[in-house]
Amino acid sequence: MDERAPLAVVVVGVGHLGRHHLRLARTLPGWRCVGAFDSERARLEKACAEFDAEPLPTLEDAVARAEAAVIATPTVTHLEVAERFLAARRHVLVEKPIAASVAEAVAMVRLARESGVALGVGHVEYFNPAVQAVLARAPRPRYLEAQRLSPFTRRSMDIDVVLDLMVHDLQLAQALNGGAPLREVRAVGVPVLSPRVDLANVRLEFANSCVANLTASRVSADRVRKLRLFEPDAYHSIDYAEQSVSAYRLVRTAGEAAIEPLDVKVEKAEPLAGEHLAFQRACRGEAGPFVDGEAGTAALAAAVAVVEAIAAANGP
Ligand code: NAD
Repeated sequence: MDERAPLAVVVVGVGHLGRHHLRLARTLPGWRCVGAFDSERARLEKACAEFDAEPLPTLEDAVARAEAAVIATPTVTHLEVAERFLAARRHVLVEKPIAASVAEAVAMVRLARESGVALGVGHVEYFNPAVQAVLARAPRPRYLEAQRLSPFTRRSMDIDVVLDLMVHDLQLAQALNGGAPLREVRAVGVPVLSPRVDLANVRLEFANSCVANLTASRVSADRVRKLRLFEPDAYHSIDYAEQSVSAYRLVRTAGEAAIEPLDVKVEKAEPLAGEHLAFQRACRGEAGPFVDGEAGTAALAAAVAVVEAIAAANGP
């Protein structure tokens, strides 16, 4: 592979999110979009017409033409689609959650490793410039609080709110804790408008003693996306939607403690484009912020632990 040539990329699944992946595959430098595939022909043709991409007749064509694939099909199909590309030594960026079960995620990671290709997972919030600005400060939180509330949309009904929304904050909580394992998970969750859990709250304790309190809802009146981090001598509050950070630090002078504002600069950018650029770097074997298959599997394993804790709390 010529390290400087644009990579041949395909998008598989051009529904709600896949359309945005196709737009970026067609417009971002570093990509040469060789087409898209979706099992629903009418949707494929509409999306391809909108973004001037080639509708591919079969998944085999997509595998044959691509060096890299972005997969945005329903979660239950991630492994069956991804393994076709991975087995043919194509790099894969698969939407989050990585797969429908930890066993499937582990199989996907193993296949990527055996094939020697990059495997990324679409935890797009990690690429929010506000998150990257806070991560760059190497925070050591003692306590985290996240709220991710959305109105009901009927999308992602194949999974519950933990795998749908909370998995973003689980991945971020893990990244902010340097991958420390979980020590305790206590959770509550209820189905509201769907047969699956639509509203969940969890208290996680990491092995480094950090506590995270996460709330996710897909039946909320308002849309809220916030994360607050409490450190012994600093506080950061991230507004994902605004891509802004407000921060304060504790300063001690001559025995007197004072709270001072901290200026955390955030350069606004589209998180999904940041995710694509990170995937390109990984395809080229370059270092940089990236949510790889292992991190995606760890986030899924945490989500499964939350789901199990909810089931245990709800009883038989
Ligand atoms: P969607 O239903 O709108 O789109 C999925 C598309 O995949 C449809 O067009 C469908 O026809 C197609 N498809 C289904 N099975 C296929 C197959 N085997 N081969 C090819 N195409 C197939 O779903 P969506 O809301 O776009 O979600 C897709 C994925 O993205 C899910 O895993 C979801 O969890 C994830 N997602 C991530 C975020 C995020 O913030 N990162 C947000 C929404 C959804």
